[in-house]
Amino acid sequence: MIDSQLSERSPALTDAQLQADELVVDLPGPRGPVRVVDGVSFDVPAGTTVGLIGESGSGKTMTALAVIGLLPEGAETGGELRWQGEDLLRVSDERRRRVRGHEISMIFQDPLAALNPSLTIGRQVGEILRRDGRSRADVRSTVIDLLDRVGVPEPAQRMNNYPHEFSGGLRQRAMIALALAGSPSLLLADEPTTALDVTVQARILRLLRSIQQEEGLAMLLVSHDLRVIAHVADQVVVMYAGRVAERGPAAEVLRRAAHPYTRALVASVPAVRTRTALADPLPGAPATPANRPSGCAFHPRCPRAQDRCRTEVPLTREVAPGRWSACHFAEEVLDV
Ligand code: SF4
Repeated sequence: MIDSQLSERSPALTDAQLQADELVVDLPGPRGPVRVVDGVSFDVPAGTTVGLIGESGSGKTMTALAVIGLLPEGAETGGELRWQGEDLLRVSDERRRRVRGHEISMIFQDPLAALNPSLTIGRQVGEILRRDGRSRADVRSTVIDLLDRVGVPEPAQRMNNYPHEFSGGLRQRAMIALALAGSPSLLLADEPTTALDVTVQARILRLLRSIQQEEGLAMLLVSHDLRVIAHVADQVVVMYAGRVAERGPAAEVLRRAAHPYTRALVASVPAVRTRTALADPLPGAPATPANRPSGCAFHPRCPRAQDRCRTEVPLTREVAPGRWSACHFAEEVLDV
């Protein structure tokens, strides 16, 4: 049992497809293992988008890599990661490979790095279909349908292009088509729009949202950008220094956060802030898992910190219906 995050399960989310329960990830470091994910619990119910947000070093990407089964070599895991009831941390490598692509697919931040430069877009999107033994004609028509669905113009011609012949936005659309090819139930998107300019970002987010809703997919969207989360997420999980700071319905959390870290995040983004157009930059530097402060890891940056915060790790508690916070004073924060 991880003593830092003795969180209870949320009773409301019984239809969750993915459930992280006290998930732990340790990475090897020069002075021993470093706990980069420390007792993280959240649910991704069917048909909803959950936004996983945090600054660099918060553990959000390692959490996503644990879900897709692509953690760096030497990583050790603990807790549970239940996918439709099955613990992904304890299945065979073969079962893991089957889940990846067919049941859970990932959309990466940089499609140019994720796509093979020497294979055509059509070849890559159709790879999983060919592996499933589908006929050549079936693969071709399905690839054209998929590219058409994600908004690639003239898909029958463009499927013969190589990744470098696509713009950044079109490459990300191709990446989404590739992720959809295996008919997954969960889409995992890691900073899917960070490498794109602002106008293209909005279009890709709209596309992801409409696909998620039309297909009734679950989506776990990882981002450092609160505006992206505000755009598409139903639920939000806020991470800090490898732990969950707060989770709950996105609209409520962003409007009236129950954790000072979330409040500081919201205040640092002008478009999300409601009372003034001015942004307040987050004070101080983010804590890193290798150098996690004692007690509440946010205490060196927290304007509300008291003596207790320096020594006692706050438990994740349900502080209002559906609202979970790991702050000793969450009720007071909510009242502000
Ligand atoms: Fe701030 Fe203390 Fe709450 Fe941590 S537990 S967020 S330091 S008030």
